[in-house]
This record gives sequence, structure tokens and C-alpha cells, in this order.
Amino acid sequence: MSGPRPVVLSGPSGAGKSTLLKRLMKEYEGVFGFSVSHYHFVTREKMREGIDNNNFIENAEFSGNMYGTSKSSIEDVQAQNLICILDVDIQGVNNIKKTDLNPIYISIQPPSMEILEKRLRERETETEESLQKRLEAARIDMELSKEPGVFDIVIINDDIEEAYEKLKSVLVEEIEKVQDSKK
Ligand code: ADP
Repeated sequence: MSGPRPVVLSGPSGAGKSTLLKRLMKEYEGVFGFSVSHYHFVTREKMREGIDNNNFIENAEFSGNMYGTSKSSIEDVQAQNLICILDVDIQGVNNIKKTDLNPIYISIQPPSMEILEKRLRERETETEESLQKRLEAARIDMELSKEPGVFDIVIINDDIEEAYEKLKSVLVEEIEKVQDSKK
């Protein structure tokens, strides 16, 4: 499979993934793409079969509906000469590691739990209950992301400008690949 390498962005909720992504998509229009979530498109049986055959890097069931990101939907983005962005949790990271997708693994981390809590509160998207759940998940995520060899780079999002420059420096090679082939 040719085409640019996909990019895995992982890290606790509130670490700054969407903020960084938004900047990236704005600066580099037409370079990044997203995989289409499987839902509606296939029958339940087909989806079950796909999951059993390890064709999904993540799947979940909400109110009786099955959702998931398949390997082929990522390869479709790659075939369009776009860098496929995958915003997944640690479990998703581990599933992707079992495939031959060969992405760049990036972890975005907050400077501390205190700052993460402050940012989540100021984002005003959480109830007290969902906030506590996210903080608990963040503690686990922060520990697991320290494990050597899981991520190509762990970016501590303290100063947003610095974090963004670091992110760009990891992606520059793939970005240029996409831009050059458009010339
Ligand atoms: P995620 O997508 O990882 O859940 P967000 O991008 O939504 O995180 O960021 C969480 C909140 O923190 C947002 O309100 C965002 O504006 C803010 N934020 C992100 N990065 C920084 C930073 N470096 N300094 C201060 N606030 C930040």
C-alpha cells in the first residue's frame, strides 16, 4: 500500500488534540483526511464478521447500534493521498499495532493532572460526573503512555505554540510527501 502514513493521535480528553488538529488542518488544507466510521453501511452480521477477522481498529455499541473504524476505511484515505488522522484511545492504539498500517504514533499529554482538570473545567463541556470519569481515564492514559516503545513521540502540551511546532516537526516528512505529489 503506497500513500502517506496515517497518524495516530492519542492522549487524555482535554490534552489538546482537537485544538492542535484544528490548527494543522487550517495550515495544511487538503493534506489530512479522516476515515469514515462504519455504520449504516454494513449489516450487523457483516460487521461482527469484520470485527472477528480483526478488520476493525475500534468498535463500540451505542443504543443497539454498532460503530467502528475499519482498516479498509483508513486505507481508502491513504489511497486518496491524504494523511489519515486517527484520534483513538490506548485500546485503539494497541489494536492498530496489530495491523500493517504503520502509522506515526503520537501521544498528546497535559503538563499535569491539575492543569488538565483546569482546562476541562474551562472548556465547559463536562458535568461533574463526566469530568471525574475523564480525570480517572487520564490518570491511566498518562501512565500507559510512558511505557517505552508505544509512541514515536509524547508531546507535552504546555505552551500551545511549542506543542504545535513539535507536532509539525514529526509530520513534516509525510506532509511534504503529500504536497510534492500534488505538484
Ligand atoms: P482534546 O481534544 O484532547 O479533548 P481540546 O483540544 O478540546 O482537548 O483542549 C481542551 C481545552 O484546553 C480546550 O478548551 C482548549 O482550548 C484548551 N487548551 C488546549 N491546549 C492548551 C494550551 N496549550 N494552553 C491552554 N489551554 C489549552
